[in-house]
Amino acid sequence: MNSELKHPLGSNPGMDEDVFEQFAEQLTRYVRERLIPAEPEVIENDRIPDEIVDEMREMGLFGLSVPEEYGGAGLNMTQYARIVNIMAYAAPAYRSIFSINVGMFASALKNGATEAQRAEWYPKLVEGKIACFGLTEPGSGSDSAAMATTATPDPDGNGWVLNGTKRYITNAPHADVALIMARTEKEALPKNAHVSAFLVPMDTPGISTGSPDKKMGQSASHISDIMLDDVKVPGDALLGGETGKGFRFAMQSLDNGRISVGAAATGYARRALDSAVRYANERKAFGEPIARFQLIQAMLADSEIEIYAAEAMMADVTARADRGENILVKAAAFKVFASEMCGRVVDRVVQVYGGAGYLAEYDAERFYRDARIYRIYEGTTQILQLQIAKHMLREWEAANS
Ligand SMILES: Cc1cc2nc3c(=O)[nH]c(=O)nc-3n(C[C@H](O)[C@H](O)[C@H](O)COP(=O)(O)OP(=O)(O)OC[C@H]3O[C@@H](n4cnc5c(N)ncnc54)[C@H](O)[C@@H]3O)c2cc1C
Repeated sequence: MNSELKHPLGSNPGMDEDVFEQFAEQLTRYVRERLIPAEPEVIENDRIPDEIVDEMREMGLFGLSVPEEYGGAGLNMTQYARIVNIMAYAAPAYRSIFSINVGMFASALKNGATEAQRAEWYPKLVEGKIACFGLTEPGSGSDSAAMATTATPDPDGNGWVLNGTKRYITNAPHADVALIMARTEKEALPKNAHVSAFLVPMDTPGISTGSPDKKMGQSASHISDIMLDDVKVPGDALLGGETGKGFRFAMQSLDNGRISVGAAATGYARRALDSAVRYANERKAFGEPIARFQLIQAMLADSEIEIYAAEAMMADVTARADRGENILVKAAAFKVFASEMCGRVVDRVVQVYGGAGYLAEYDAERFYRDARIYRIYEGTTQILQLQIAKHMLREWEAANS
């Protein structure tokens, strides 16, 4: 695959390495000493306590990828993925609450916003306002460009009127702002230029959210519909001030989102495996710890091997991103491998736990449920396989014509 292609944004030096290492160490301790002990309460109440969300704000987690000149931590991709990976050792809801801020929303601002939009929204992200990203709809998910939500010129001014419904939107019930993808042309255009992106405060009249959906896993991370009913936004809500660029911005932001999901799946697999190693040493059968049985050891070893592979992919793809390479294919490959790998690891972890693995009282059961979504959002495995193959075949054709 051609890794010589340069990313339009170029390289990013990131935070000073020593300062970053101290931050990573502090966060690792916070995850172990504060977030993991609070998990039973978070899961029981389906809610992260406000004081923890405030602590996370104070630690700067909501503005990790916001450039330093706007008050953020200015992390590069390598550092960003490591922080997500560290956070993902705890229950997924903790990452979820700030993931859109630092992932897709910050990335869309970086890729596509005007200076005025950056000046307005970056500081709000840093402060801890919660963002959401509205792409999926009842009738369009993988085929997201087939969206029905429209933005039409406001007859009363220079703004836009938005109508439609967005579905499964992470953080929608708590969000202060949404990045909404909408059609600015009726007919589909080449390169999906019929789609534009809008920065929409969630208190704009005409916006409402549905009740949070009941899900398989990841308690305390909430998704819901967003209904847009004649929502009037000013002209400067159009991301980048230009129509027809929304889809490109969304796809560029998804690169970042895929790295985040890959890093999260890798961190969660590590958490699940550590718990299986502990259980295997504690649980006895036939008079000895089950960790002594070689078939148990095989499951532990296979998991270790696969997590190591995902960690190596994470280090590689993020280093490439920081060198300014185009990482479209490799970010997709990392996301597919890490999410599928996490699925295999949590499945083995349930097996290591035996009957206890099936009971809600033990962690293995929720690891298994929580991990399932990683293979679906930010591009399903199938859609990313198609994307990877498309690039491979295009390169083969270019080289052989
Ligand atoms: C917990 C959760 C959080 C989410 N958060 C957000 C969010 O914040 N913002 C947002 O916009 N969306 C969000 N989503 C939506 C998510 O991104 C979509 O669900 C996902 O992209 C899949 O779309 P779909 O559900 O419409 O599935 P479909 O597109 O209907 O796909 C169904 C199946 O068909 C397969 N398929 C589809 N097309 C093809 C093809 N051409 N070839 C082969 N197989 C194909 C898919 O891989 C899948 O297996 C979230 C979803 C969940 C469950």
